[in-house]
Amino acid sequence: MPERLFVCTPSKLGTYLDCPRRYRYSYVDRPSPQKGPPWAHNSLGASVHTALKNWYALPAARRGTEALPTLLKSTWVREGYRDVDQERVTYRKALGWLDTYVAGLDPEQEPLGVERVVATKTAVLAFNGRADRIDARDGEAVIVDYKTGRTGLDADDARGSQALALYAYAAARVFRRPCRRVELHHLPSGTVAAHEHTEESLARQVTRAEDAARDIMAAEKAVAAGADADEEFPTNPGSLCGWCDFRRSCPAGAEVHGKEPWAAVEHLERAE
Ligand code: SF4
Repeated sequence: MPERLFVCTPSKLGTYLDCPRRYRYSYVDRPSPQKGPPWAHNSLGASVHTALKNWYALPAARRGTEALPTLLKSTWVREGYRDVDQERVTYRKALGWLDTYVAGLDPEQEPLGVERVVATKTAVLAFNGRADRIDARDGEAVIVDYKTGRTGLDADDARGSQALALYAYAAARVFRRPCRRVELHHLPSGTVAAHEHTEESLARQVTRAEDAARDIMAAEKAVAAGADADEEFPTNPGSLCGWCDFRRSCPAGAEVHGKEPWAAVEHLERAE
């Protein structure tokens, strides 16, 4: 029998590479351990992403900044904030970011895809992922990923992102055109961090993803055959633990002081 393909998204692979134990809690253990409360920064990210998706769903003639307050209000996710005051400040900031960002977009320019799922297979992986936006530029496809976190990003972040590389690899196959350029659009700072991949650099990222997939499949197989799940999916304690949804279920995480659900948006109030 041929080995089955490992079905994955970028976030599934990224979870394993960050911490095998977190991967196990998310994707292997059933029932999955109870997660902590929702995070305000996830709510913020989801709200901004959906508002931009819906902006592109408008007819080109209506794609102006004046559409944004309605779009953002209707997609606003309220979970995770400390209180209504913090939520209001964050909403105002998000609207400001969107205003600036959208003012720099050409409403007539139709992307190849918005929140578009691209999927492809390799000898090891059946990959699928939802790209924020895929632009058509000069006959090529360009991967665009929106970011709403506190810190800006640079070209190294774009170059090193396995998720962006896998999107590019898949998009080239789906759209049958070259896809080498990947971009991180950081809305709070209005900056774009970009990288031009080569065939070789994309192949390297795919190989790394396949290596991770093989490790995961081997660990899952070992656990199914009776191996100790704690050993096969070890903890990786570090700065991520404070933000981990499974901190309360994890022996390493239990020793770490957890972040408040709104910790990653508090700086927005100070900047008011
Ligand atoms: S708390 Fe830390 S070590 Fe435990 S699963 Fe989460 S990230 Fe991994």
